[in-house]
Amino acid sequence: MSPQSFQPPRRILMGPGPSDVHPRVLAAMARPTIGHLDPAFVTLMDEIKDLLRYAFRTQNELTIPLSGPGSAGMECCFVNLVEPGDTVVVCVNGVFGGRMKENVERCGARAVIVEDAWGQGVNPAKVEAALAANPGAKALAFVHAETSTGARSDAETLCRLARGAGALAIVDAVTSLGGIPLEVDRWGADAVYSGTQKCLSCPPGLSPITFGARAVAALKGRRTKVQSWFLDLSLVMAYWEGPKGGGRSYHHTAPVNALYGLHEALVMLREEGLEVAWARHAKTHGALVAGLEAMGLKMKVDAAVRLPELNAVEIPAGIDEAALRRKLLEVHGLEIGAGLGGWAGKVWRIGLMGQSATADHILKCLDALESGLLDAGAKVNAGKAQAAARSALSA
Ligand SMILES: *Cc1c(COP(=O)(O)O)cnc(C)c1O
Repeated sequence: MSPQSFQPPRRILMGPGPSDVHPRVLAAMARPTIGHLDPAFVTLMDEIKDLLRYAFRTQNELTIPLSGPGSAGMECCFVNLVEPGDTVVVCVNGVFGGRMKENVERCGARAVIVEDAWGQGVNPAKVEAALAANPGAKALAFVHAETSTGARSDAETLCRLARGAGALAIVDAVTSLGGIPLEVDRWGADAVYSGTQKCLSCPPGLSPITFGARAVAALKGRRTKVQSWFLDLSLVMAYWEGPKGGGRSYHHTAPVNALYGLHEALVMLREEGLEVAWARHAKTHGALVAGLEAMGLKMKVDAAVRLPELNAVEIPAGIDEAALRRKLLEVHGLEIGAGLGGWAGKVWRIGLMGQSATADHILKCLDALESGLLDAGAKVNAGKAQAAARSALSA
């Protein structure tokens, strides 16, 4: 038998990403491929940069989508800004902070770790102490929205502390961009990276980044070559910007159709309005939580630091969580996320990201989860969740 065209099953994506992709974005990606230096494509590139500035709330000239997933954006920030022998204060309160530490060490730099418990935001007092104890630290790195736990950190305060200590603020905004307020310029975030498959609701594979003036100065003032040729921004920019007054030159072949998709998703974000999108995430989150709590389930993270786009829910005792997730997928076509690391088997992670943050999504999810839990013999309050969620939605 020869292989047939692949037809993916219909899914409702409510995990930690990717999120549901709107048909407009899929349709954009199916348009004819053109050359990556075609004048029409160059116009599209400029629009993408402007739209990303809108989403990031920045005027930074160096604002582009990297050809690679969010992890490429993370690596790009570190390899461009951190040199051997530097010290970087790294906040670790979940999986992704741990990866930042790994990046710092692979750059030949020293990582000073500020650790907070899973489910908590980064503690600014500890960061202040770490910066004071390490004068001359090159950067402070932290995750704005920790997708492994669903906890939010106070990025504004952390950026201010970095600035006060003369350190660059490197911010992971993979799960925050488009989902919760992110103010790159107002907060003074120096180097910020994100991903497309979370609250922007594009397919995975691109990483929007933005570098402010201080980060660009650090890049220009390097003593050593950037260790990665592919992620060296001084080379990448020859393609995305070109020399002043000159043409753009080939660095690598941009993922043309993926960029059509990102452009369309950003046009949709602009049509909706960034603040409206933030409010939609917050509202659907409130309704999901109301439904889950009416069912008798418990949220894992304190309300004060909960992310709307990533909801960690405690798994009731005695439930085979993997079997239940499989059932949701097979019977309802619904994907939710498992716990990671120390939270594996303890929580589910329900994503409300981008196009997956709708009333319809949460009502379907509550229904599927309730019937799955009842079938598995869990003690939940049957028949309460829908009404609680609906009333929160109409509030
Ligand atoms: C998803 C995610 C990443 C990694 O993005 P990929 O696209 O999977 O490489 C990094 N940081 C955070 C906070 C994330 O949620």
